[in-house]
Amino acid sequence: MNERLYDVAIIGAGVSGCAVAREVSRLRLDACVVEAEGDVCCGTTKANSAIVHAGFDAAEGTLMARLNVEGNALFGELSRELDFAFDQIGSLVVCTSEEGRPALEELRDRGVRNGVPGLRIVERDELERMEPNISDAAICALFAPTAGICDPFGLNVALAENAAENGVEFIFDAPVTGVSKSEGVWELCTAQGPIRARVVVNAGGVHADELHNMVSEQKMEIVARRGEYELLDTTAGTHVRHTVFMLPNEMGKGVLVTPTIHGNLLVGPTADDIDDKDDTRTTAAGLRAVVQKSALTVKNIPFRETVTSFSGLRAHQSAHEFIIEEVADAPGFVDCAGIESPGLTASPAIGRMVAGIVRRILSPEERRDFQPQRKGFANLNHIPADEWNELIKEDPAYGTIVCRCCRVSEAQIRDACRRVPGARSLDGVKSRTGACMGRCQAGFCTPRILEILCEEIPDMDMEHASKCGPGSEYVVGKIKGSLEGGGQRA
Ligand SMILES: Cc1cc2nc3c(=O)[nH]c(=O)nc-3n(C[C@H](O)[C@H](O)[C@H](O)COP(=O)(O)OP(=O)(O)OC[C@H]3O[C@@H](n4cnc5c(N)ncnc54)[C@H](O)[C@@H]3O)c2cc1C
Repeated sequence: MNERLYDVAIIGAGVSGCAVAREVSRLRLDACVVEAEGDVCCGTTKANSAIVHAGFDAAEGTLMARLNVEGNALFGELSRELDFAFDQIGSLVVCTSEEGRPALEELRDRGVRNGVPGLRIVERDELERMEPNISDAAICALFAPTAGICDPFGLNVALAENAAENGVEFIFDAPVTGVSKSEGVWELCTAQGPIRARVVVNAGGVHADELHNMVSEQKMEIVARRGEYELLDTTAGTHVRHTVFMLPNEMGKGVLVTPTIHGNLLVGPTADDIDDKDDTRTTAAGLRAVVQKSALTVKNIPFRETVTSFSGLRAHQSAHEFIIEEVADAPGFVDCAGIESPGLTASPAIGRMVAGIVRRILSPEERRDFQPQRKGFANLNHIPADEWNELIKEDPAYGTIVCRCCRVSEAQIRDACRRVPGARSLDGVKSRTGACMGRCQAGFCTPRILEILCEEIPDMDMEHASKCGPGSEYVVGKIKGSLEGGGQRA
């Protein structure tokens, strides 16, 4: 039984919850993050387009538009403070017919009204120079120089590590199944026992409505809107130089084609409302649609270079708006819900806004000893040879490559396990170091990473080392042991 009374309990360790945690850690408050899964970045934040949107898409005057533009402006400084990858490559919304031009101009004008800097329409000649593989049908495009690409896992992990360094506690494997209040204190019912707090922040992603509905009579509904992707090898990573969008429609921004921060080419997503909020399957029909629609804006995409496909779930709310407020009939319970795209972009601003609400409720003092900096993981693809040699002198394990596709060493994997909160699974190592993201999709490096997990994590053994927690274990038994026990193969 956790006897502590926290000032703030944040439900959800995605990018929203961790951005809130980092901002709350600037204040003299006892705070924790309560997460259903065994690590950070296990929800929507691990499966999206990773675009730092400029901010022309969201409807004028909405919270979504404001936090998009604010978040975009904060990204550069945040990436330097927390040492995660971000590259402002710019985006293009492609128009393929004169009939579409008024909609493109409307998008530009909306962007200007939203406060997006530098927007301009580029005509075919310039567009072709910017993007040699642009579709032959493209006549012009809206160029947004402030758009970028980022490492969503890196951002999520960095926010969590920095929050932890500044005193926030992370409680994993703790799905919140009930919320009640007595004598001004909230109690969360979890698999790790009850957790008590004066303020609760609901950053539960696609499940935020279920948490909200536990405390309020004003019911909320979040629909999971699935988006499927094809991820191509780094050999295809320069097929486009900017993020290339279609003209948006009522289901969203359409299928995009973009380089990723890890050097791959990403194509997708689809947009389909589904009933099961945890169903991240890909479908043949969805992936076919990705291939067909992407050809409208970019030609000759080398889909033969596909290394994997995946899907993510948008937390779609019918008004298509972020809901960030103290719940009217549940004082001290703060929703951070409906955080669909551009939630990743907006996350730095979402963190600030929610911390502002917490500040108003609890009137805490600022912490003078807040540490804003966090050091990221070494990236052996981007450092000069002499710097790599220095690392090897300090720790020879930097010279032992475990993931050959993405050039990740044993030292980085051990570093991932030793940090707080640290990696506890193969996906945890992947999201922190980039291991397993390459062409072989973890085919070669999995056994060695599992061994390192077992060496680094107390009480971890091969039977429990997993891809992403219970139910995804790799080892089903010892072949030798089962042979001894009667010749049955495990
Ligand atoms: C297809 C797609 C494309 C996107 N593209 C972009 C983009 O390019 N740019 C952009 O800015 N945004 C994009 N987004 C949106 C962005 O990914 C999300 O807004 C953002 O990741 C949401 O983060 P979150 O922390 O709110 O939710 P999540 O990352 O889902 O985190 C919620 C967490 O809460 C936990 N949780 C849920 N219920 C409970 C419970 N009962 N108890 C304890 N824990 C619980 C979950 O396990 C999860 O870890 C995209 C989204 C999708 C799906």
